[in-house]
Amino acid sequence: MRATCPAFNGNRANLEKHILLSLAENENFDDYWEYIHNPKSFFRNYIQNHIKKYCSEQNNKIKTFLKISVGDIKNVILSAIHESTARAKDKSSTVSGRLDLFCDHLRSNLNFPRKDLISIEHQEINDFLKEAMCEGLDDLMVTVEKICLSMPVEDMVPEIQNMLSEHLCGCWKQCPFCGAICTNTIPNHDGDHSVPFHRPKAVNGGQWANTDHFNIDCCTSLVASDCVFIWNNSREISFKTYRHAGGEYATWSIPPDTSTQPYWKWFVCHFRSNLEEKYEKKFTGRGEIPDAWTNITKQNVLDDLKK
Ligand SMILES: [Zn+2]
Ligand SMILES: [Zn+2]
Repeated sequence: MRATCPAFNGNRANLEKHILLSLAENENFDDYWEYIHNPKSFFRNYIQNHIKKYCSEQNNKIKTFLKISVGDIKNVILSAIHESTARAKDKSSTVSGRLDLFCDHLRSNLNFPRKDLISIEHQEINDFLKEAMCEGLDDLMVTVEKICLSMPVEDMVPEIQNMLSEHLCGCWKQCPFCGAICTNTIPNHDGDHSVPFHRPKAVNGGQWANTDHFNIDCCTSLVASDCVFIWNNSREISFKTYRHAGGEYATWSIPPDTSTQPYWKWFVCHFRSNLEEKYEKKFTGRGEIPDAWTNITKQNVLDDLKK
C-alpha cells in the first residue's frame, strides 16, 4: 500500500502535503476546522478512510498479493528444510541441532520462534523427519491460505491502520501562534519544535490586542517585527522575545522569515465569512485582507503544493 499510495510513501510531512491538497480540492470548511484544531484525530480518520477506500477498490489485487505471499513463505520454509537437512548430514547431529540449523536458515526471511519446535525434538533422526516436515508444511499452508483468502479485506483495515499510523507518527505539538504542526518525525523529541511553514495567525483565531480584528500576519514575520502580543490576558510580550512567555512558547524555534506561501492566504480569502462567524472576529483594520491575496486561485495553491 505504501508503494502505491503517494500519501503514504514518505514521512508525515509528505502525508500532510496530501492532506492539504485534498482539503483544498474538497473546499469543506468543517474538515479544515477539524484539521486545524484536532490534527491528530483528523490524520487518524484520513488514514482510515484512505485504507477503507483502497481495500474496497483493490480487493482482488490484495487477495492475489496474499496468495503470492503465502506461496513465497512456503518456498522459504521448504528451502530451509532442504538446506538444514543437507548440512546436518555432514555431521552426526541431534534433532535439536538440526532444528537449530533450520531456524538459522529461516531467520533472514522469517521470524520463526525456535521454541515452537520443542514438541518434535524427541523424534528419531532419519529422512522421515524431513518428509514429515514437508508434509506438515503442505497441510499448514493450505490452511493458512484458506484463512487469508476467506478473511474479508475490511477486517484488515485496523491492522493496516495501526502499522501506517506507527510509521507516520511524529511530534504533534502545534505552534502556539498559528497552530502549524511540528514536523519532527520523533514523538517527544529533543530540542525545539519547528515547522518549515507557519500560517497567518488568523487561521488559528489570532487577533490584534484589544480589538476584534484578526491578525493575518505570519508568525515568522511577527517575530521580526516590533509588535507585541498579550500573554495570559495581562502581560505584553514582544514577538521578538516570544520565548520569554515560557511554557509552549519557550519550546518553539520560529526563525524570522518574510517569505510566505499562498496556501493559507487563499484559505483565509476563500473561507473569510466562515472564519469571521466561527471566531467572532473581523478581517478589518490591521486585519484587512490585502488585494493581492484575493487574486490567488485554488490552482495556484495546488500547483505550489505539488512543487
Ligand atoms: Zn506559527
Ligand atoms: Zn516537535
